[in-house]
Amino acid sequence: MNIDSIRNGIVIDHIKAKKGLEIYDALKLGELDCSVAIITNARSKKMGRKDIIKIDKNIDLDLDILGYLDPNITINIIKDDERVEKYHIELPKQVVNIIKCKNPRCITSTEQELQQIFILTDKEKKIYRCKYCETIKED
Ligand code: ZN
Repeated sequence: MNIDSIRNGIVIDHIKAKKGLEIYDALKLGELDCSVAIITNARSKKMGRKDIIKIDKNIDLDLDILGYLDPNITINIIKDDERVEKYHIELPKQVVNIIKCKNPRCITSTEQELQQIFILTDKEKKIYRCKYCETIKED
């Protein structure tokens, strides 16, 4: 794969510098059967430094995971060498099975079959609370 361009695929841009690998792992991009490139510390006018991930295939991205990890990233969809779509993502209103509640008395620690659901309660401060016990997820 040419690092500079992909014919058909996805470019995840404006990732906070050094966060690319975390996103790569969270999206399980290592399990794909296509080329994936992570560029770290790329120069950015807007951000100083940023990471970029290029995926040589059009896959369904988990926007909840992406939005939770880094709400400022931009997704570019590339088809036949041209960018056909560009969009921003935002913090998901709730996340399911991405983070775990750390409260030992929470019902999710005894009822293993329950989904781990966190609700966004403060968008500005990025505060998520467990749906069951309202414990705040600490970063
Ligand atoms: Zn809880």
